[in-house]
Amino acid sequence: MSRVRVLLLNAAIGPLDYRVPEGMAAPPGAIVKVPLGPRQVTGVVWDEGRLEADSVDAKKLRPILETYDTPPLTPEIRRLIEWTADYYLAAPANVLRMTLASTSGYSGEKTITEYRASGGMPERMTPKREQALELIGDTQGLIRELSEIGEVSVGVIRGLVKAGALEAVDVSLDAPFPVPDPDFDPPGLEPDQMAAADELTAATRASEFAPILLDGVTGSGKTEVYFEAIAEGLRAGKQSLVLLPEIALTEPFLTRFTARFGCEPVTWHSSLRQSQRRRAWRAIAKGEAMVTVGARSSLFLPYPKLGLIVVDEAHESAFKQEEGVMYHARDVAVMRGNIENFPVVLASATPAIETRQMVEIRRYREVTLPGRYGAAQMPDLSAIDMLEDPPPRGHWMAPTLVRAIEETLGRKEQVLLFLNRRGFAPLTLCRTCGHRYQCPNCTAWMVEHRLLARLACHHCGHVMPPPATCEECGAEDSLVACGPGVERIADEAKALFPEARIAIVTSDTLWSPTQAAEFVRRMEREEIDIVVGTQLVTKGYHFPNLTLVGVIDADLGLQGGDLRAAERTFQQIMQVSGRAGRGEKPGRVFIQTREPSAPVIEALISGDATSFYAAETDARRVAAAPPFGRYAGIVISSEDEGQAIETARRIGDTAPEIDGMQVLGPAPAPLAMLRGRHRQRLLVHARRALDVQTVIRDWLGELDWPKNVRVTVDVDPYSFL
Ligand code: ADP
Ligand code: ZN
Repeated sequence: MSRVRVLLLNAAIGPLDYRVPEGMAAPPGAIVKVPLGPRQVTGVVWDEGRLEADSVDAKKLRPILETYDTPPLTPEIRRLIEWTADYYLAAPANVLRMTLASTSGYSGEKTITEYRASGGMPERMTPKREQALELIGDTQGLIRELSEIGEVSVGVIRGLVKAGALEAVDVSLDAPFPVPDPDFDPPGLEPDQMAAADELTAATRASEFAPILLDGVTGSGKTEVYFEAIAEGLRAGKQSLVLLPEIALTEPFLTRFTARFGCEPVTWHSSLRQSQRRRAWRAIAKGEAMVTVGARSSLFLPYPKLGLIVVDEAHESAFKQEEGVMYHARDVAVMRGNIENFPVVLASATPAIETRQMVEIRRYREVTLPGRYGAAQMPDLSAIDMLEDPPPRGHWMAPTLVRAIEETLGRKEQVLLFLNRRGFAPLTLCRTCGHRYQCPNCTAWMVEHRLLARLACHHCGHVMPPPATCEECGAEDSLVACGPGVERIADEAKALFPEARIAIVTSDTLWSPTQAAEFVRRMEREEIDIVVGTQLVTKGYHFPNLTLVGVIDADLGLQGGDLRAAERTFQQIMQVSGRAGRGEKPGRVFIQTREPSAPVIEALISGDATSFYAAETDARRVAAAPPFGRYAGIVISSEDEGQAIETARRIGDTAPEIDGMQVLGPAPAPLAMLRGRHRQRLLVHARRALDVQTVIRDWLGELDWPKNVRVTVDVDPYSFL
């Protein structure tokens, strides 16, 4: 065979045929370098070349230039890439890019030059240089990475290298990873845990496709139990992958994993340095990385002998990617298990309705852990009616909650206050003219971040200094902060409890695994009394001395209610409640709400999750909403509003009329402007069995639109904004 079809890492161009030069081995799956016009690009040999009437004569085909010294992608991973591209209407190249996620990983460099502080000072010290050296500390990295860390230009870093303040270090990229030992320190499991672990280990041994919901309240030992399945995979020489929704959870996971298996697993997430990325990628591709823990993107890496995927906190919407390839890692994980014949464990205390329904119709198996491990009891939940028991004017915590905090601090126990809103206040308003500070690029208010002394847009990142006078009417001392964010709650707590040590935990303050580890350490050493945090603190953490949780505003997530608003509120509050009373001391949870009789609040208080899920599921069934029907969102955006509207209208007008399918819209999206682009939306609603992907592909395939109009399709959307 001398003709092969190569899938290029270039979304704009479909697969192309190339010639395999005499003496070169380029089997399907091989990663290759090929010529494209005047350039050289990377691609993967997908299959044999196609001979069609119009295809290029074999003699005229351009040759493959080089095959990289990396194991070829297996047929299974190639099928996964094709399936994902097909299902989510994405370019195969864009999915492939997630598999080939480390250029130096496959292109075979063996060492890389990094830089670190030499200890010497430059002869000429500038403020920039000083800042860079200060921020870099003893971090080691590429010039570009150091410039990011030091918040200076690449030029400044180069200058520091020249001046001798930073020195070059050759880093070997192929140091092997230690292999986790399945028998290092296994726990003594309780009978229920043992039974669950047996089911998971049997499934892992069987090497058959088995989607399994591992369902157990927070603190029931789900992690301990799925560790047994990983141990079984290790004994069988199979690779395992654990997906976590949030990289902040990585660090505590690593500690627990090390205690159980004697060494760390391989990690994969966006804040890896390039050299770490390359080392992990190679170990994974060669089948040497036996256990990987990572964010959703680690799902597409080329593990050659994967035998188990665990999706931890599987209900988390963070597994849904909202740009580029808009896939749901939980669902693609199940598909990967299906293609490669292994079990996929979805672990959650609050499974998604979609997942529960799959159990209901017996497509997924369910393994249950009924209670908390050891002596720990589930916390006691109660609602605070904010109309009956309101906080004083300008405050956000009801007297009942304040008393509970006082008691808890009095017992030297820890408190968690949960509010899913970063910053100080979500809106800044002028009392004189009513002007509201809005982002110039988005349909969104500018959020005040008092600690950083600026207003910021949470959608596009636009920032401005906090204004002294109103930008509209010029009035002085007229701007007021409306509503609370975590910073404001922290201020209120500080005013009430001046002695308490308070920490704010959001993605602003805790964005790397190292910072997460530092936070965990401070909590464990009881150097923090009150944590005020966003959804970042709702999951995973285990702090035995944390006994009180206050939910500042339970109604927040119900506003603008999309399909999953009530479900998400339930999950979030259950999860954050799950942080209380995990040790021997009992936990209490207070939920502040203006609607204590809302079904979701009543379900939380009574602990009757079953009826709540049943009612929500019925509502979905009646509305033919997922999982009973399917949705696909189509978003049309352009800097030119007229063109966005015009394209959306044409898409709407040409919608095919198909039995069991409805097209809603077009209409301006709720987020009508985002990053300077005007957005229009259509929503396709179809019965479950309908192949909406093919319908949409054919429908949009017939149309074209101006270059500056972007049309994206979101299959099984989570966001309706
Ligand atoms: P989940 O993942 O369900 O929230 P975890 O696995 O985190 O629960 O368990 C909660 C806590 O109880 C952890 O600190 C864990 O180490 C401990 N634990 C659970 N089961 C056992 C066991 N069989 N032996 C010792 N400790 C356990
Ligand atoms: Zn913006």
